[in-house]
Amino acid sequence: MPRSPTAPKIRSQSNIPQSYVRDHLRVLGTFFQLIQANADEQLLDEFFQRSTYRLQLWVEKIISTSDEEQKPLQDRELPPLDVALALHSLMLSPRRYFEDSMVRFKQLKRINEYPLSMILAALDVNKMGYDEVKCHLAAEYWRTRTGFAFDAIESMRVDTTRSVQCPFCGKTEDILWNGARGFAQAAFEHKCPKCHELFTHDTLRAGKFLQAVNQAKKDRGYCLPNTSIILGAHLDVQARCPAIVDEVSGCFENSDGQFHSLKDLAMSAATARGDMMTYIAKKLTLPDSALRPESIPLLLRAFEHSYPFTQDVTTARWFIEDVYRQGWAGGPSDEDLDMAYDQYNDFLERSVTVKRRDPQWRDDLIWHTHQLMPDRYRADIASYIHVFLDHLPRGEGSDGYGEDIVIVTAMASFVNTCIDPPNTSSQKEGHLVKAVSPT
Ligand SMILES: [Zn+2]
Repeated sequence: MPRSPTAPKIRSQSNIPQSYVRDHLRVLGTFFQLIQANADEQLLDEFFQRSTYRLQLWVEKIISTSDEEQKPLQDRELPPLDVALALHSLMLSPRRYFEDSMVRFKQLKRINEYPLSMILAALDVNKMGYDEVKCHLAAEYWRTRTGFAFDAIESMRVDTTRSVQCPFCGKTEDILWNGARGFAQAAFEHKCPKCHELFTHDTLRAGKFLQAVNQAKKDRGYCLPNTSIILGAHLDVQARCPAIVDEVSGCFENSDGQFHSLKDLAMSAATARGDMMTYIAKKLTLPDSALRPESIPLLLRAFEHSYPFTQDVTTARWFIEDVYRQGWAGGPSDEDLDMAYDQYNDFLERSVTVKRRDPQWRDDLIWHTHQLMPDRYRADIASYIHVFLDHLPRGEGSDGYGEDIVIVTAMASFVNTCIDPPNTSSQKEGHLVKAVSPT
């Protein structure tokens, strides 16, 4: 669907203010320093895991409010810098962020613009980190609500545990980050003192998967991650998810119609001599399943890691380092910025016709900045190119920190992603395609 000739270009003043791009660059400079402070790769991996966990704490314990109104962030809710880094990366998966903020983590709705100026105001200009006096209130609030250090580097040193819920019985425990079987290790292993089951990262991932399928079966307002449809600027969780959930749960039912328990799955995977997530992926591609084999990785993507916020919240690392090395953290000239906006416009135009296209770093910067304003991003993209343009890290999987890919979700391919058309749902999908085609 080509852009109509009269469609306005994405312009700086009305869509993505230049000042916001400049603020973004300054914050990226701070993130770069923070990453450099953990230069050792092993440490950095643990640092990202901890940031992901701390982001989860921030969402659950700091910005969670009982009232429904979209209150802007208060001073005491300033995220620790590593949490700000993780949140930044989370927002750079705009589709996932939107779905999460509507379905799983409604507190995220409070952040309809990444808090660049709030973070900048709390920085100490000399040491590229927060000024202790300026962030005193937030640090106190964080410590009281979470029990952990506010400063990211200090937390690496003094906070030795994180809480983990047993995927079999639900018992919550504090578990060590470090040690041969610590949570930060790929070889993590723990025996639950209550139910005596042994679990690993793989068990936690499989548990997260089963829990999501179960919840989506029970609750129609919930949907499996990545199965909603974004129509223009709106989210439809019902159009596709129930059919997918039926197919998925059908793959995991015993002969008497009972849904597999985690224990059943663990035993079956052990019999097949593989890990549980591989076993799950195999079950989903059985010949009688209407799920498209090529869509399974997409469907399982949200379960790549063991806890709610997956580790792909940290994948913006290379982008941050790239921008910094280009010298832009010091502030680009007006001409440089103008060129970046032009390239972004070209990139958007290309995106409509070319299925996958890597942006260059200048257009990437404007694109990322645009995504930090989720509501505006959706509205602009919908009116500009009539499809939703998502942004995912390249190299899916636990070790896949990489560059960007673009997925242009033209409506037809979007609704057909997961289920084979000849199935019962094909009629419904045909109707949907018609209903949402722009006229
Ligand atoms: Zn247990």
